[in-house]
Amino acid sequence: MKLLLQFPEGLKKNALEEAQKLEKEGHEVYLSSSPCYGACDLPMEEARILRIDKLIHFGHAKFIKKGLPFEVEYRDFHIKIEVDKLKSALPLLEGKKRIALITTIQHIPQLEEMKAFLEKEGKQVHVGKGFFAAVPGQVLGCDPLAATSAAKDADAILYVGDGKFHPTGIHTELPVYALNPYTGGCTQINAEIEKIQKRKKGMMIKALECRNFAILVSTKPGQCALNSAKDAKKKLENAGLNAQILISNEFNPVSIGNFAQFDCYINTACPRIDEDAELFERPIINAVNLDEFLHLYKQTHKN
Ligand code: SF4
Repeated sequence: MKLLLQFPEGLKKNALEEAQKLEKEGHEVYLSSSPCYGACDLPMEEARILRIDKLIHFGHAKFIKKGLPFEVEYRDFHIKIEVDKLKSALPLLEGKKRIALITTIQHIPQLEEMKAFLEKEGKQVHVGKGFFAAVPGQVLGCDPLAATSAAKDADAILYVGDGKFHPTGIHTELPVYALNPYTGGCTQINAEIEKIQKRKKGMMIKALECRNFAILVSTKPGQCALNSAKDAKKKLENAGLNAQILISNEFNPVSIGNFAQFDCYINTACPRIDEDAELFERPIINAVNLDEFLHLYKQTHKN
């Protein structure tokens, strides 16, 4: 079989070993070296040029459920943690009985173990299922629903995983704690979540002065939202604003900045791009917030 292997950045170090294993089985193997941001981001161009039989995507769960021109196998890459490390969350969770528990796909096989640990400490553990998530308890950067659905009757949200990218995408009034299972460090991250939300609001205010809108469409198969972009273009033009669609696999701030006429970006791609607005030197509004923006725009420019 002609195979193309794809690894997210953190797992690229394992590529040689996996490729050699598959070659020994008699396969013709290629490695995609394009950046990989998530399970939404499959190497379509490499797959097309190589005419592969199958793509093996490591480290993420199934995300794109239909419409691909080749077979995709998603191979989980589980990373075992010491569940005992959860004890460092206990002082912060004191007085909070009902806990919404979330983690990344790498630690999902130990979700039950984490749940049992917290239950032994007298907690009631709630687990929810995200919209794009493959399994309950799994949180994605663009899909905080696993947290928000579990948080409905909870007193706090506990995220177990490396980094803060996933839990800072959660918009909630509840306290959110991020526990790093490698170091055992646990911190409350509501101030960071609030900062991100404030920045989004600030960008919306800034965009009220803009006239020329570039609507960003990604060709990444799990991000591509052309219809949403066309819809955004119509809405902006109906409001008397200029709008054009920019399409690209990846948005490089310098390269799209060369379209100097545009003073604001409407983003239909990964909803976390807006957190890099400083690099893009323009306000970025996610397409899901466009109606809210246009409402505000009409209010502000009434006279
Ligand atoms: S859309 Fe963004 S947040 Fe969602 S999986 Fe892709 S890269 Fe991650």
